[in-house]
Amino acid sequence: MTQQMQPGSNGSQTAAIVSYAPVSGERLGEVPVMNAEQVRDVVARARRAQDAWAVLSVEERGERLLRYRDALIDRGEEVIDLLSRETGKPRHEALLHELLLVADMITYWAKAAPRILAHEERPLHLFKHRRTVVTYTPRGVVGIISPWNFPLQLMLRDVIVAVIAGNAAVVKPSEVTPLICVKAKEIWDACGMPEDLFGMVTGYGPTGAALIDAGIDMCVLTGSVQTGRRVAAACGERLIPCVMELGGKAPLIACHDCDIERTARSIVGGGFAHSGQVCLSVERVYAHRDVYEPLLARATELTQKLRHGDPAIEFCDIGGITFEKQIEVAENHIADAVSKGAEIRTGGKRISGAKQAFEPTILANCTHDCSVMTEEIFGPIVPFMRVSSEEEALTLANQSHLGLNAYVFSEDPVRARRLAEHIDAGCVIVNDVLLNGGITEAPFGGIKHSGFGRVMGEEGLRAMCNVRHINLERIKLPPNNPFAFPYTEKRYHWGLKAMRALFTSGGIFKRLSELF
Ligand code: NAD
Repeated sequence: MTQQMQPGSNGSQTAAIVSYAPVSGERLGEVPVMNAEQVRDVVARARRAQDAWAVLSVEERGERLLRYRDALIDRGEEVIDLLSRETGKPRHEALLHELLLVADMITYWAKAAPRILAHEERPLHLFKHRRTVVTYTPRGVVGIISPWNFPLQLMLRDVIVAVIAGNAAVVKPSEVTPLICVKAKEIWDACGMPEDLFGMVTGYGPTGAALIDAGIDMCVLTGSVQTGRRVAAACGERLIPCVMELGGKAPLIACHDCDIERTARSIVGGGFAHSGQVCLSVERVYAHRDVYEPLLARATELTQKLRHGDPAIEFCDIGGITFEKQIEVAENHIADAVSKGAEIRTGGKRISGAKQAFEPTILANCTHDCSVMTEEIFGPIVPFMRVSSEEEALTLANQSHLGLNAYVFSEDPVRARRLAEHIDAGCVIVNDVLLNGGITEAPFGGIKHSGFGRVMGEEGLRAMCNVRHINLERIKLPPNNPFAFPYTEKRYHWGLKAMRALFTSGGIFKRLSELF
């Protein structure tokens, strides 16, 4: 949570962003609001550092990153403490959803990146006299613009992938939670990593815009759809490749044969982890009428057992709302749903005694007339809607402008798989929730307005690279080969015959290839 400090009247003092703990209101520190010139300087220094870094082998880069991992783990409690204070998330989540995943990601990439980025020879089916080799080389400086909900994991996820591919990374952390990025950078510098290779620019939206304008070679944004439109347009103007990781509205389809206990626990875990401030959160439940009431009752019961508290001083399940505006968003969704016939089964208001915290809320009898079923919540509300069939659930799940994650619960693997294959989303999980955020092997990202491009997986690593096709000679053709000048009638007819033999169903080569 942040407030802005203005520059002094003589203009000498730099504007600053002050960061506060959302639950207690404690002042945690401040960062400067950087201007375009300062941003250009950070990018220029990153570019110089990248020249030296890119000559290292992928293995050597991995080894250096493992040292950073060890340093992060050595100072783990310090990192977890700041993470949970600045975001208001329970320490358990700061550990398992952030720091531990970062440690795993570094370990994974150090091992897997050399294979994924190795030169790749591709056998050719047509130009048999040539050889094709595909190489992956770094793009240069990657700008990474981050949100406030997972300020360590989402930011370092992209830094690690950029850097192991041989790039430099310049991060613009969210103005709501800048201090954790400062900490991650401080640990980077202290453990002997090249300081300018991981640059940081702090400020609001205009600082992010200045980063795109500062000569970066690629941009990865994780943020809202609204910001995505602006950033994609700015990258388009400069013809910079970009990846857009934007909002989510994950549906959960509970089939008539789902395991009620497991589904209820997943709804509560997937809906209220980090108070629902997760792009993968369960944001709407379509429950078959046969399981609707027992599922709702059990999810309500489990939700009422969650312990609220200040993660800075106690172990609790529910901490704070990181970004104050989200409280108003939650209140508006609830008021709208209730006015349209929904019923609050539990929660529904701010948690008293905390600066910014909201009760985990379950709403029954929702429909697509309610904004809570159709617009991103990004807060601790799980709305339930009753459906008569899986087909109805599927149609409703796909009636969304967003398509990041989706969940299907059924004890029949065939039914679950069939539904999963028809949901419009970048990832569909059967009988579990949220975990793709930590599956480094798989591409992560959305469709529709949830964005484009992928982070993680081979796709995410290679996206950080320029792809080069090197074409080499295998067999030397004579100078008078059919492709060369002069274009004669004889050569033209030779070409026609070759095309028929190779590609038509009755062609001799086509028939031979079908036989063997
Ligand atoms: P946001 O869009 O408000 O801000 C994201 C970042 O963009 C911030 O650092 C901000 O300063 C910067 N920014 C704002 N305007 C800019 C501009 N014109 N040019 C460049 N940078 C600019 O998002 P937020 O509120 O920080 O995060 C919440 C949103 O992020 C939610 O919609 C959530 O679903 C989404 N999110 C998506 C994923 C994913 O992986 N798909 C993960 C987490 C969060």
